[in-house]
Amino acid sequence: MNGYFGEFGGRYVAEVLRGPLDELDQGFNEAVRDSEFWAALGQLRDEFIGRPTPLLYAANSTAALGGAQLYIKLEGLANTGAHKINNAVGQALLAQRLGKHRIIAETGAGQHGLATAAICAKLGLECTIYMGEVDIARQRPNVFMMELFGATVVPVTSGARTLKDAVNEALRDWAASCDTTHYIIGSALGPSPYPDMVREFQSVVGKEVEAQLQGRGITPTVLVACVGGGSNAIGFFSPWLERSAPRLVGVEAGGRGSLTGEHAARMNGLGRTGIVQGYKSLFLLDDDGQVQETHSVSAGLDYPGIGPQLASLGASGRVEYLRATDRQALEAVQFFARNEGVVFALESAHGGYQAMQLARSLPPDQVVVVNMSGRGDKDLFITARELTPGPWREYLLSEAEQ
Ligand SMILES: *Cc1c(COP(=O)(O)O)cnc(C)c1O
Repeated sequence: MNGYFGEFGGRYVAEVLRGPLDELDQGFNEAVRDSEFWAALGQLRDEFIGRPTPLLYAANSTAALGGAQLYIKLEGLANTGAHKINNAVGQALLAQRLGKHRIIAETGAGQHGLATAAICAKLGLECTIYMGEVDIARQRPNVFMMELFGATVVPVTSGARTLKDAVNEALRDWAASCDTTHYIIGSALGPSPYPDMVREFQSVVGKEVEAQLQGRGITPTVLVACVGGGSNAIGFFSPWLERSAPRLVGVEAGGRGSLTGEHAARMNGLGRTGIVQGYKSLFLLDDDGQVQETHSVSAGLDYPGIGPQLASLGASGRVEYLRATDRQALEAVQFFARNEGVVFALESAHGGYQAMQLARSLPPDQVVVVNMSGRGDKDLFITARELTPGPWREYLLSEAEQ
């Protein structure tokens, strides 16, 4: 564990951040060897997050698709609605152990900010969330919720005023405040030791699935997860990374198509090796090495880089990558809502769509498991506008007149 996964990973940061990252690395390695840390984390997982989350046999979907047996890990039933809380809780507890009373985090769509704000409220930690001005304007419900949890949401006005700029601002804060402050990164990326740490805290998802399948005597054929930065996927896949089976499939945002700026897919030759925000991985870069614009209907998948371990697992062939478009994700949201009574987050629905295709194409004695990384309540303002534009617009107008 030297912070690299093949050629990817590492720690490419300014001098001032070396000390805090070393301290974090050491603190993390001590914590994971301490049974008291795991006892405290276990209690929060049970009582606060609501673990274990269920593994649902998707009987109606299986019948409708006519092929392999389909199972859904309902990670969206966790507190605050997504897997992000697993990492936020683990890192907040680690921060407390390191004597830090202040937490900072970046957020794009707001899901990581929400999870961080929630655990800070629970543990009595001061919480500052950096969020691009553009994202604040389009994610008002999550800003409201973070403030309800007592967090301070700081608008970031530099650059494109979105996620990447929020990360830069959080790193700047941390460089000046690391004596009292811990920075919780929201995905399995960033400088070492973040990718290892985030995978460790998200691996609870995969470990639960493994036990839930074993308990039912089931051997999976293929596991499917959506991939933004890659935290839900790496946690879900983690028990199987060193084995040759099952197949592991990551699904990236195909957006509106394969033209530059219209998607957020970095694998299968679209991304280039680069060093951005402290780590080496595959990024969507232009010829001058500048980070490109991305698009996805799901805010959680439109990040231009992929976590270094998932990039490496793609290079080695252990993880295969597919894409789903905006339309296909919306189709999957509707399919699982009607057939199973669960609403996938738009991010998770990218995995859901490819799980549907796999289930269709494989024989009935095979098993497909998809990670529903989040639930779709948060996407109401997008899905309702897309699926029932007229009534939704009328509703918004009448609300605005109140
Ligand atoms: C943030 C988010 C993602 C993407 O992040 P990963 O680190 O790739 O998991 C996926 N699903 C949901 C519900 C999210 O909130």
